[in-house]
Amino acid sequence: MDLDKTDIAILRCLQEDCRSSLRTIAAKIGVSVPTVSSRLATLEQLGIVNGYCASLNPERLNETSVTLTVKTRLQATEEVAKVLAKHEWARRIRMTRSGLIIIDATVVDRGDIDSILEDVAASPDVLDCQHFDGLRTVKETPLARVTDALTTTLICFQCKGPIKGEPIKLRMDERDHYLCCHSCEKLYLEKYKKLKAEA
Ligand SMILES: [Zn+2]
Repeated sequence: MDLDKTDIAILRCLQEDCRSSLRTIAAKIGVSVPTVSSRLATLEQLGIVNGYCASLNPERLNETSVTLTVKTRLQATEEVAKVLAKHEWARRIRMTRSGLIIIDATVVDRGDIDSILEDVAASPDVLDCQHFDGLRTVKETPLARVTDALTTTLICFQCKGPIKGEPIKLRMDERDHYLCCHSCEKLYLEKYKKLKAEA
C-alpha cells in the first residue's frame, strides 16, 4: 500500500521531533488534530511507527559501541540470533542470507568485550566471531528514510500477519482497519466492540 502525503508528513514531523504534539503536527501540515490522531493510530498498528524514544548519546555516557560479526552454521543463524538477542549489550542485531549476524553492541565497561566474545564463540553453531571497536560516531540518523514515495506491506490488525492480496478494509470511528480474512474480521470486530463498550 502507498502511504499518502498526510501519512508521510506526519512521519517526517515525528522523526524530526517525537515530542511534537498532535496539535503542533496538525498545524504544521494543515490537517485537523483528529486526523493526525487517527492516522497515527493506524501507522502504529501497521508497525511503521514502532515507538517514541529519546535518542541518547552513548559516547556522552562513556559507553563503548562495538560492532560484532558472527559467522554461524547456515541452518543455525536464526537460533543463534535469538540467543544473542537476550543480552542487554546487544542493541541491534541483523541477519544476512549468508549466515552472518551483525550486532551493534554497547558495553559499559571496555573490559566486558573479551568475555562477550568468549561467550559468543562458545556456541557450537558459531564458526567465527570478530569485533570492531567504534572510535567515534561520525553520523547517526534514524534508519528509516522518509521519502516522498513510501509504501508498506499491510499487516492484519487481528493476526498481525502480512496481508497478501486485497485486504478487508473496515471504516470505523473515522479510521481504516485492515484484516486478512473473514475469520480475522469477525474476531477483530468482536474485540473492537468489546473494547468500545468498556471505554
Ligand atoms: Zn489476519
